[in-house]
Amino acid sequence: MPELPEVETTRRGLEPHLQGRRIVEAESRRARMLRRQPRQRDFADRLRGRRVERLGRRGKFLLIDVEGDLTWVVHLGMSGRIQVAESGEPEVPHTNVVVRTAEREIRFVDPRTFGFTAVLTPEEFDESPLTGLGPDALTDLPRSPVLASLLAGRKPAIKTLLLDQRLIAGLGNIYVDEVLFRARVAPHRPGGSLDAVEVKAIRAAIRPVLEAGLKHGGTSLNDLAYLLPDGRAGSYLERLRAYGREDRPCGRCGTPIRRSIIGQRSAYWCQTCQT
Ligand SMILES: [Zn+2]
Repeated sequence: MPELPEVETTRRGLEPHLQGRRIVEAESRRARMLRRQPRQRDFADRLRGRRVERLGRRGKFLLIDVEGDLTWVVHLGMSGRIQVAESGEPEVPHTNVVVRTAEREIRFVDPRTFGFTAVLTPEEFDESPLTGLGPDALTDLPRSPVLASLLAGRKPAIKTLLLDQRLIAGLGNIYVDEVLFRARVAPHRPGGSLDAVEVKAIRAAIRPVLEAGLKHGGTSLNDLAYLLPDGRAGSYLERLRAYGREDRPCGRCGTPIRRSIIGQRSAYWCQTCQT
């Protein structure tokens, strides 16, 4: 599932093709992709003829400011990606939403349609689930005493808490495993059981892990569901130290990496150096 580095890579790849450009036409071929749009026809009506002012992001959401005080929201879901194409270029399967400028087509490809998009007024935005998002893990990460207070007394596993977008926005299964590996904290530990040194280690690991992901264009898994807007694959997969490495030796101590299920999600970790 695309997480913060993949969404930020997408934002950066889209920026030169959308920033300051006028949208000529927008269309959706799958109604499900517009399920968060209060009235579906508003999607195309609100984009058509409008200029894109700024491309932002919060957590895993792309937030594109469009003239007229509108926010074009994109969430890639489990298997979504954005492709920038020349008009007339053949479409790949599952191209569900297409937004055209004079120069390019912005295509939202999503085989499983867990992703969505909507163009919202400020009032609609305030009523959307976006308002419950926690601070962005890359740009607005709480300092460790604040993080410690958010975790204090919490019984769920630290893995589960770091996945909770209301606590910190942007982390998902891949990068949480990498953060906990780097911080040497076992994923099943209750959030409230961590001491100040452990919280500090987690906090210190988040930005380097996300920035490393970003530097390599994010993580394209073997299914290639996530790709950069120009069609290249992100190459962070080969640098992962815990996620997806079941039975392969830990890079620090050689113990085989173990896979556990925590809160219905898989967690990859080293039983020897994560405690
Ligand atoms: Zn180890």
